[in-house]
Parts: sequence; structure tokens; C-alpha cells
Amino acid sequence: MRIGHGYDVHRLVPDRELILGGVHIPYELGLLGHSDADAAVHALMDALLGAAGIGDIGKLFPDSDDRFLGASSLRLLDDVMELLRTRGLRVGNADITIIAQAPKLSRFTLEMSRTLAEHMGVTADRVNVKATTEEGLGEVSTRGIAAHAVVLLEETAPKAKNL
Ligand code: MG
Repeated sequence: MRIGHGYDVHRLVPDRELILGGVHIPYELGLLGHSDADAAVHALMDALLGAAGIGDIGKLFPDSDDRFLGASSLRLLDDVMELLRTRGLRVGNADITIIAQAPKLSRFTLEMSRTLAEHMGVTADRVNVKATTEEGLGEVSTRGIAAHAVVLLEETAPKAKNL
């Protein structure tokens, strides 16, 4: 078994769609970033890459590369999953915490779980998504949205390619 942690944060700004955990959230602000700025999926990808021991999304999908301009983070997640598969790794489970003062996200977390599980090739009960505020105390969570992710990977083959 291999464990990984990821963290990401993006700033909330006008005139951007808000996409979290691959789900469109109706809100007057959205997250600013080179891709669709889905902080939850970015944290998840960094946790997956960390557990696999193959770096982070900044190295894989640099924001200096226009191929990733406006990219759907779910597409990038598909690429990360392909990397894991070639290394003989599969997801045991993932736990994601989104930190936002607003909007209220609890009614979207189940859909996020289902969406992310589908892209990771596991059942939704292996992907937990939860949301919390910081009771108005957080500088980051009032001006942006942050996410933490922890994942457990399992080796599918006894001799996984070790790169
Ligand atoms: Mg990011």
C-alpha cells in the first residue's frame, strides 16, 4: 500500500465558472487558474502522484504550457490515472476535504464522489468528499477555495514497474 497527500488553493474571482470535484456549482464567483482551477481535483491528483512517488501536477501539467489552458481537470485526472495504471497501481480509497466559506457545498459532495470515482475506476464508496467552512476565521477560505486530499494506492501486480 502507498499513501499520498495533496493540497491546493485557488482564488475566487468574478466571470469564472465554479467547478469543484468535476461538478459545476452555481455561484457568482469562480476559481482563477490556468486550467478550470478545480482545487479539489488538483489536490486529488497531487495525492495520487505523491502516493505513486512521481512528483506533482505542476511538473506534469505546467501552467506555462498552453495545452493545459482552460483544461478540464477531469481530463488531467484521466492522464494521472493512466500513469498509475502503467505502474501497476490502483486506488484503494480517497478522502477529500474542500474548505470554503461560501458557497454551501454539502448538496454537491455526493455527485463529486460519483464523478471522481468514475474517473478513477472505482466504486463511489471508495471516494469520500466532504466540505467545511472555517467559521469565517480563514483568510484563504474567505477569498478562495482550498482542498486537501489523502489517497491510498494498492499495487495490482507483484512486480510493478518502479520508475
Ligand atoms: Mg491548482
